[in-house]
Amino acid sequence: MKMQSLGAACTVTGSMHLLTLDAAGGGIRQLLIDCGLFQGGEDLEARNREPFPFDPRDLEAVILTHAHLDHVGRLPLLVKQGFRGPVYCTAPTAALAETVLLDSARLQVEGYRQDVRRARRQGREDEVPPPLYEEEDVHRTVALLRPQLEFGDTLRVADIRITPQRAGHILGSAYLLIESAQGRLIMSGDLGNRESGLQLDFTPPPAADAVVIETTYANRTHRAWPDTLAEFRDALRESVRLGGKILIPSFAIERAQTILYTLKELMDAGEVPRIPVFLDSPMAARATHEYFEYGDELIPPVRQALQNGEDPFRPSTLHVVPTAAESQRINRYDGPAIILAGNGMMTGGRIQHHLKHHLWKPSTSLVIVSYQSPSSLGGRIVEGAQSVRIMGEDVAVRAKIHTIGGFSAHADQDDLLAFLSTAGKPHVWLVHGELGVMEAFVPVLDRLGLKGDIVPDHDTVDLLGAGFPEGRPPGLPVAQERDTQRSAGGE
Ligand SMILES: [Zn+2]
Repeated sequence: MKMQSLGAACTVTGSMHLLTLDAAGGGIRQLLIDCGLFQGGEDLEARNREPFPFDPRDLEAVILTHAHLDHVGRLPLLVKQGFRGPVYCTAPTAALAETVLLDSARLQVEGYRQDVRRARRQGREDEVPPPLYEEEDVHRTVALLRPQLEFGDTLRVADIRITPQRAGHILGSAYLLIESAQGRLIMSGDLGNRESGLQLDFTPPPAADAVVIETTYANRTHRAWPDTLAEFRDALRESVRLGGKILIPSFAIERAQTILYTLKELMDAGEVPRIPVFLDSPMAARATHEYFEYGDELIPPVRQALQNGEDPFRPSTLHVVPTAAESQRINRYDGPAIILAGNGMMTGGRIQHHLKHHLWKPSTSLVIVSYQSPSSLGGRIVEGAQSVRIMGEDVAVRAKIHTIGGFSAHADQDDLLAFLSTAGKPHVWLVHGELGVMEAFVPVLDRLGLKGDIVPDHDTVDLLGAGFPEGRPPGLPVAQERDTQRSAGGE
């Protein structure tokens, strides 16, 4: 049972893992677990144009753990390059993936047109690379989605048995038990934070020979949920007193719904004044509809509200902003208001023009509730930049910045250890984390008698083999000095 990680190896983005298993009658079978886009700055995003080191036509199937862009965003590229097999996922993942991929294609095309306009002024339009994919590629991809994964039910793909279980990360998110003649493997996908969010906790996993586990926050413990709520409430109260706009950059799936639900709770309880809330993200508005469909995955108060016919995601002062023109008009609105807009790391989307209009004003508040990659615009603001470049202009950072980490939809160290506690004595393979974070987690596993190995980028590892003698394969880069503690949230 071999694995080659072509994303989310020593980084938290671009999840893609190629599994190679021996077939019962000889030969091999290849499965791709997730096919995500690299996000968070130019260097990482350039990796989306790297060729696949395998022939997409040879894959038996693709299996998606959940619909975040960094887990599904390169699927249309795979299809463009010849993949025609099934893409297995849960029903909510299929619904959300379509929304996410259509939005991604639109952004690719818009970005391309913008780049061409700029390059034309320099006479270099021929040098602009084409969009990674377009809407029609997404339609061809969506036609391959097979929403046949159901928590606890086993799906057979040739002689391999795949059993998804609830991962508690976002709507539809699953981890996978993959059984073949060679052994039992768990692929964690992204695991949920048991303290926060809207999702029920992950289902404890069964014993396995190997676990490939995400490690986004393997070196820290999230703040307790009541403390996070109090921190959020205090940040909002202080922001209202400043009198300016309150910008909350947010990912469209899960974080937006969690923030809307929390705002409604705080406003209904009189803890935060009922100021206008603008949801300036058509994708978040669309994704919210899926939460009504699949309420049984959600925590009891939300599920109860849905059963009562209420809308738990709608503060009484909510305005959904459908068009870009109306988004521009919010800037003329006087007085304090909350603007929830994408994208979460501020690298694009409508949040950018709100930042351009308001970040330089001392009366503005920027409330960061999501993970910020160090190289993203949000990352630079969190790091304390005095001035940042937004839409071709230098903008002073004079707004009050609040960073609230507890909204993370990701497991922290306690959650990860709880997950591993029922899995027997597996060989643990670390993915989806910054190198320094994973290096801190290996000795924690060691103290529990678990062998932990960091999965190298692109090199093939034998998941059921001995791993690496020194706990790290030769050629792995030296740990970068990155302070992930100052980043917030996480996708
Ligand atoms: Zn995720």
